[in-house]
Amino acid sequence: MGNVPTITVNMDEKCKECGKGGATPSGLCLVCVVKAMKGKLMKTPTGRGFAAKWEAAQKRAVKEAKRQHPKAALTAISLFAGGKP
Ligand SMILES: [Zn+2]
Repeated sequence: MGNVPTITVNMDEKCKECGKGGATPSGLCLVCVVKAMKGKLMKTPTGRGFAAKWEAAQKRAVKEAKRQHPKAALTAISLFAGGKP
């Protein structure tokens, strides 16, 4: 509660992936951030780097969840897998 993660968008910064204005600290705009999170093919090293980091973070989170709450993790994993295209 009261600990909502925020994303800063710098409107003067151009997205490294698509070149549109408004980039997050990752160098990507929100549209490209979502693309990378969905596992879409990224065109630039920045985009691919973000996608790789995201994937690693997901794997870490799953590993940690399994360790702490084996039952809950299984439910979360099946939801995550089911939500993937
Ligand atoms: Zn973009």
